[in-house]
Amino acid sequence: MAEVIIKDVRKVFDGNVVAVTDMNLTVEDREFVVLVGPSGCGKSTLLRMVAGLEDVTEGEIFIDGRLVNDVPPKDRDIAMVFQNYALYPHMSVYENMAFGLRLRKYPKDEIDQRVRDAADILGIEKLLDRRPKALSGGQRQRVAVGRAIVRKPRVFLFDEPLSNLDAKLRVQMRTEISKLHERLNATMIYVTHDQVEAMTMGTRIMVMKDGLSQQVADPLTIYHVPVNQFVAGFIGSPAMNFIEGTLKNESGAFSFESRELSARLPDSIAERILKDSSGDVVLGVRPEDIYETGPAARLESSASISVHVEVVEPMGNEIFLYVSLGGNDMVARIDVRTPPTVNSDIDLVVDLTSAHLFDRETGVSLLLGDQGQAR
Ligand code: ATP
Repeated sequence: MAEVIIKDVRKVFDGNVVAVTDMNLTVEDREFVVLVGPSGCGKSTLLRMVAGLEDVTEGEIFIDGRLVNDVPPKDRDIAMVFQNYALYPHMSVYENMAFGLRLRKYPKDEIDQRVRDAADILGIEKLLDRRPKALSGGQRQRVAVGRAIVRKPRVFLFDEPLSNLDAKLRVQMRTEISKLHERLNATMIYVTHDQVEAMTMGTRIMVMKDGLSQQVADPLTIYHVPVNQFVAGFIGSPAMNFIEGTLKNESGAFSFESRELSARLPDSIAERILKDSSGDVVLGVRPEDIYETGPAARLESSASISVHVEVVEPMGNEIFLYVSLGGNDMVARIDVRTPPTVNSDIDLVVDLTSAHLFDRETGVSLLLGDQGQAR
């Protein structure tokens, strides 16, 4: 398997569409890195440059120490799995999986062994004689993955492979691909716009926006210590709530003030606030850090908010409350059996020890990382 290094890479289409810029990323040997971001952020273009399906405008890409900018896709020792499976309709599953090896003139016995091994790993042994049209979406996707496995490539590249599957199958295939990563011990780069896929599958995630990397870190760091408001709002479902206000610094005692919520910030947050921060900020609160008044009694540092309940969504194990706070839409995840009634006015409590703070103009986080590092 192999390490992939992306160094100062830039991609410009047609002379003026900047799809990817200032891109630097090292995917370690056997790592599973997920590229995630909204539509058009450049994630597919970046993956396609690694695959050799797009030229690199500037910068360098190395696979296992070899500069591959001018190496054609077939000689890069990578295998790519696409969203649309790209199976040959007139060939059986067996032939689809064997095709790439036949082209490379592998001996018949070895091809047979590899196809049967891959079919065994993916649980599709009984489908080998079928044509793609006689398969379900999930089975087709398994064949597409199988076709990649038989090649024993140095690097697996996945471009939104689960997008065409229904929700249940997507969850199932998600676990299967994660297991496959464990089993094959392979280097994998996986593109998705689905932040749940990114959180659950990646050993590291790169969040992208407008062709730029926003943050590269393990899933929990991305979730708990986002570097800016974009990452904070993109990762997490329902999304983080934002309240605009002012940060006041009185000799190291910080308070947040807005029309709807004013409170002194706890020491655990104050200690992490970057030097000289004050002025226009955005307070970030995750839905699970909002409580009903009863359970909130045990919180170390909290602030009350008076909200109007607009929608109540019972999820079974918890309830999503869509509320309005002085005209701001917010979501709370509340763990109760009897939900508040729609259209009522209630008090909720925000846990300030988990609060996030962003500069209102730049969106950059005003909190140091959890190891105290500036970011
Ligand atoms: P999606 O999730 O919608 O596939 P993405 O993050 O993968 O989006 P890309 O497909 O990489 O985004 O596209 C990045 C930018 O480059 C977009 O603005 C897109 O319109 C542009 N782009 C992509 N391919 C081409 C092309 N062949 N010619 C011109 N512009 C392109």
